Amino acid sequence: MKLLTVVGNRPQFIKSAPLSVALRAAGIEEIVVHTGQHWDPALSAVFFDELGLQQPAVMLDLRTSDVSMIEAALRRTLADQMADAVLVYGDTNSTLAGARAGGGRPVVHVEAGLRSGDLAMPEERNRIEVDALSAYLFAPDERSGTILRNEGVAGEIHVVGDVMADAAARFAPLARERSLILVALALVPDAYVLATVHREANVQPSRLRRIVAGLGDSPLPIVLPAHPRTRGVLAVHKIALPPSITMIEPLGYLDFSALASQAAVIATDSGGLQKEAYWYGVPCVTMRPSTEWVDTVNIGANVLVDDDPERIATAIA
Ligand code: UDP
Repeated sequence: MKLLTVVGNRPQFIKSAPLSVALRAAGIEEIVVHTGQHWDPALSAVFFDELGLQQPAVMLDLRTSDVSMIEAALRRTLADQMADAVLVYGDTNSTLAGARAGGGRPVVHVEAGLRSGDLAMPEERNRIEVDALSAYLFAPDERSGTILRNEGVAGEIHVVGDVMADAAARFAPLARERSLILVALALVPDAYVLATVHREANVQPSRLRRIVAGLGDSPLPIVLPAHPRTRGVLAVHKIALPPSITMIEPLGYLDFSALASQAAVIATDSGGLQKEAYWYGVPCVTMRPSTEWVDTVNIGANVLVDDDPERIATAIA
């Protein structure tokens, strides 16, 4: 059995780390293809180095998020590699392109069944289509398994747990031991907020301005490892950061998990980070109108504040 795994975005490199090890241990041949949707070294290469991942066998280096371009390249790769099945992670355009490129081969979807209920988010539309195309749906939790059963998807549903939890459990203790990031940034554990903002909707200048205002009103210092997309919008639209916000480059997984696991609060629009906050026991403030990680909200570990400056500041406080 030859499995072709599609990765292309930061969270997918992280998700693939524990599963690639398990596939090797199970004797399943895996060919990893990097679409190049994320090509900035701070969002890509650093993860391969740190997480001990083998370099992808195929680097498409497409530098686009255009689904049809990624799909066409993946179709050629699947044929060239004579793959029997295709494995995709999560909800990005690389995920959707991989599922569409399957061409009759079974599609395996890891992180199946997540739904935010917000069809305005491109990720939500990707999730639904990828699940409908998949032959094997690996759901991280019972809620997602039930959603898939209720939707009547054609593939086999298996509730298998969350691969990001494996990554966090494996790497976070190591990170806290080895990373010098708190010292480098002169931060004290439990006395700062870690913020990330990068969703397409949130880098619209009007929303980004409101988010920055809300963060700036919080009582604790904020450290913001800024995605290149966010940094670009801040610069082009001359959105000034208040002095309490320290903007830094995006971090590798180890430094980032050292920062995340010792923060007083995490304020984010990331998907994966909402779960990591919960696993680290750090309260999360999610700057989005909806979330696919509904259980984190239901148990009170996470609060949705959208882009409302007052709600952001109040929730952090
Ligand atoms: N992350 C990282 N460095 C950073 C920001 C995030 O290693 O500077 C990690 C974070 O710990 C999580 C993942 O990247 O595991 C989340 O990725 P992202 O927020 O880009 O994607 P999403 O989860 O929203 O799809």
